[in-house]
Amino acid sequence: MSSPTKFIFVTGGVLSSLGKGLASASIGALLESRGLTVTIQKLDPYINVDPGTMNPFQHGEVFVTDDGAETDLDLGHYERFTNARLSQDNNFTTGRIYNSVITKERRGDYLGGTVQVIPHITDEIKNAIWLVSKNVDVAIIEIGGTIGDIESLPFLEAIRQFRADAGKENVIYIHLTLVPYISTAGEVKTKPTQHSVKELRSIGIQPDILLCRTAHFLSDDIKSKIAMFCNISKDAVITGKDVECIYEVPLFFNQEGLDDKIVELLHIWTRAPKLGNWKTFVKKYKSPNKSVNIAIVGKYVDLTESYKSLNESLYHAGVPNDCRVNLIYVDSENINEKNCAEILADADGILVPGGFGSRGVEGKIFAAKYARENKVPYFGICLGMQIAVIEFARHVAGLKNAHSSEFDEKTPDPVIYLMLEWYDERTETTQVRDELSEKGGTMRLGAYPCTLKKDTLAFEAYKTKKLSERHRHRYEFNNEYMKPLEESGLVLSGLSPTGDLVEIIEIKDHPWFLGCQFHPEFKSRPMDPHPLFNAFVKASLENCEINK
Ligand code: GLN
Repeated sequence: MSSPTKFIFVTGGVLSSLGKGLASASIGALLESRGLTVTIQKLDPYINVDPGTMNPFQHGEVFVTDDGAETDLDLGHYERFTNARLSQDNNFTTGRIYNSVITKERRGDYLGGTVQVIPHITDEIKNAIWLVSKNVDVAIIEIGGTIGDIESLPFLEAIRQFRADAGKENVIYIHLTLVPYISTAGEVKTKPTQHSVKELRSIGIQPDILLCRTAHFLSDDIKSKIAMFCNISKDAVITGKDVECIYEVPLFFNQEGLDDKIVELLHIWTRAPKLGNWKTFVKKYKSPNKSVNIAIVGKYVDLTESYKSLNESLYHAGVPNDCRVNLIYVDSENINEKNCAEILADADGILVPGGFGSRGVEGKIFAAKYARENKVPYFGICLGMQIAVIEFARHVAGLKNAHSSEFDEKTPDPVIYLMLEWYDERTETTQVRDELSEKGGTMRLGAYPCTLKKDTLAFEAYKTKKLSERHRHRYEFNNEYMKPLEESGLVLSGLSPTGDLVEIIEIKDHPWFLGCQFHPEFKSRPMDPHPLFNAFVKASLENCEINK
């Protein structure tokens, strides 16, 4: 069967963390700049069905798509670098593939046959790839893990077979490797790349293009050497140089001729790439005139990978504000009433991000109180909004023991609680849940509509009354407290269209204090920064200038 869609498979060798996700996203950006439509899919070798229940320390951020899929953080890169809008189908794990094969087996779909890795698992993987390839010019498929891992073998076998299924002229393999610089020898070494390609060829895949991650540009000689040992043409050996700013990667790849080589190998005729907007963005990003300090008061502060989209959103917002955004990670467990002002003294703005579990919650409440009382811009996201509501209830509305029932089941004033029944506007069904509902299965996940009130910070930022943002949480604002908290000065500036769910809160008489129940960071783009981040950074910059 031949297909009008072209396929690019991206694998990685030598070691992990070489930036395969960014490389795949950058290939997507380059192809879009030539007028092609793309989608990107991640195939992950681990056995968890999805990353939703994985510890952020091990796995980094869980990225949420519009349709409510909890996915690998690489999907965040894909959405930030391209116009592709991703869904559940763009992230498959070994667990999900086996789950579906085993379900079919139990149902009797295989009519009593012996169910095996080849062909049943590999067929299921190939079906997953076909699923995302409809309606796009190019589907980029990234295989997680490193060549040589036992667990990625079924995926590699499936993509090997795929070339014959889709037609030779429609499929290429790109392999990302490392070319390390050895200072004692004073030169770069190609042996790890040779070994990695050998390993790949031993399972039947000959890479068409090599992306060589390195600290230096590869000389002609080195490229020739790699080309000869790895059996590819010299112009298909691409330097993947370390960069100062991740948004430079597409530009470097373009300089190295990567997109030319891809369209040549895939027999695609396209216009020349238009990269002006990327160049302008990178230029502004790298040389701002001002700077601003944002304190991120959270739990996973040692592993900034768990706040990937958040960090990027703040950096994006720096560009229209002509400022460098310096992120100061503060572990909320170290904050108490006494040291709060000292710890946050350098912060021009304070951000409390999403989170689960009670560790460090009181420290976050002190940070919100400090921001409110000292008129420091405050941005609370998801848990950060709930924290702001608890703080306001306790210290402004006089509900001294107010809390979220997530952290104190016996609180007399559960201003944040588990809503047991609510109308879900996305699925148009009534959702019912209880305290014992399975972990991960009961969250409000994905895109939900929100309606804004005029004359609020939110409306001023979005400049529209209706919006849609992505959620990932269980607990909600308790509507019994709407009236008392509003009377004390809390502004409920964004609600679900039926008015049942509080989506955004603000406080009056403060330069910028806003909390949202959703995660705006999933929708910020380098060239289209999110309005709330933009407004928060702007307010923080103004605060910084006042204090100078
Ligand atoms: N733990 C809170 C809840 O489940 C907040 C979740 C979050 O910040 N993503 O509602």
